[in-house]
Amino acid sequence: MTEDLDATAKTLDRAHVFHSWSAQAALDLPVIAGGSGTTVWDHAGNRMLDFASQLVNVNIGHQHPAVVAAIQAQAAELATIGPATASLVRGRAAQRILDKAPDGFAKVFFTNGGADANENAIRMARLHTGRDTVLSTYRSYHGNTGAAIVATGDWRRMPNQYARGHAHFFGPYLYRSEFWATTPEEESARALHHLERVIQSEGPATIAAILLESVPGTAGILVPPPGYLAGVRALCDRYGIILILDEVMAGFGRTGRWFAFEGYDVVPDLITFAKGVNSGYVPVGGVIISDAISATFDDRVFPGGLTYSGHPLAAASIVASIDAMENEGIVEHARRIGSEAIGPALGALAEKHRLVGEVRGEGVFWAIELVSDRETREPVGADVIGRLKKELSSRGLLPFAADNRIHVVPPCVVTDDEVAQAMSIYDEALTSVEEDLS
Ligand code: PLP
Repeated sequence: MTEDLDATAKTLDRAHVFHSWSAQAALDLPVIAGGSGTTVWDHAGNRMLDFASQLVNVNIGHQHPAVVAAIQAQAAELATIGPATASLVRGRAAQRILDKAPDGFAKVFFTNGGADANENAIRMARLHTGRDTVLSTYRSYHGNTGAAIVATGDWRRMPNQYARGHAHFFGPYLYRSEFWATTPEEESARALHHLERVIQSEGPATIAAILLESVPGTAGILVPPPGYLAGVRALCDRYGIILILDEVMAGFGRTGRWFAFEGYDVVPDLITFAKGVNSGYVPVGGVIISDAISATFDDRVFPGGLTYSGHPLAAASIVASIDAMENEGIVEHARRIGSEAIGPALGALAEKHRLVGEVRGEGVFWAIELVSDRETREPVGADVIGRLKKELSSRGLLPFAADNRIHVVPPCVVTDDEVAQAMSIYDEALTSVEEDLS
């Protein structure tokens, strides 16, 4: 009898693997054995459309042949090397990343992922300014290490508050405005006023950095209103504060731009990245450092480092991934498919389904916000999201759910046909849940 590999994978997982952000006992996770582009499958060959891009990181799609080949070639040549060496492939990876950054950025510090990218950006901002406090928004996720988790706005911060010097404020979110705003312009102006008051109340001379996701991702794909990010930049300039933009989820194609902030007339002082830079084929992240901050450490030791900083397999995958995205027009494709296919189709779902309160996004970065009442905008509960997730999975779509939302976040290479298939699955799943509820 041949072994049922899916059953074995589940059994081993249940017995021996301790999972993130979960109570362990009731977990029942899908088995994924292979993938290509937007599709993944289990050992038995059952296929699913990956409209989560795993953790919103597989921007180039699964198993891009050029990226896989580059990792294989690098593994054959030199599989590992310490950080205190000059490595050709690492230098090339930094150069590829900097080619996409604005003028005035000449250095990259490589980390293992997004959290430690933010951790090190915060460290740089503190040492550069000689100040301590970091401001970030309540609706944010910045990672799960000491300072990054305390910078995070959502519930994941609360059991983990060991780091010091963090304060939070509300960013713009017109659909659930904290500022009684009714237009994007009002939301932007009032959110900026609120931020300036927080800066003044915390004491401008104590604030090292404002850390923001250019487009908050897990918190709801909160595309910033006109003038907001430029206004934050102006406040940073006024008070001598470093602006760190977290591009871990939004960067490298997700919004239809190389960096999300390019759409918002703003240049930060530090840019953090991970996920889409190499689509997670090898774990990596980093900080893109402005010349002024980098100069602080010309003659002063930077007190930070990681054994795997600039790992050659990660570096090779970055070079191949950026080259393939460039040569194949993948970022432009993400922009087009967002504005011509995903956006209009989600708009139609919002018209049709009473559970949909709002859809918003750009590129391949969209949220469907689900409400039990469109007037009061009461979010649906976890039970409704749980049912919707089941309906989506059973129809062959791997969903991304957060709070009362489903995020529509396929790889940047998703095709028009796959978008059409996915939209009928969302449509059928919503219909089924709505019927159950009525
Ligand atoms: N920043 C943002 C915006 C993220 O979305 C994430 C992860 O989802 C992180 C940081 C943390 O990245 P990592 O999980 O690679 O540490």
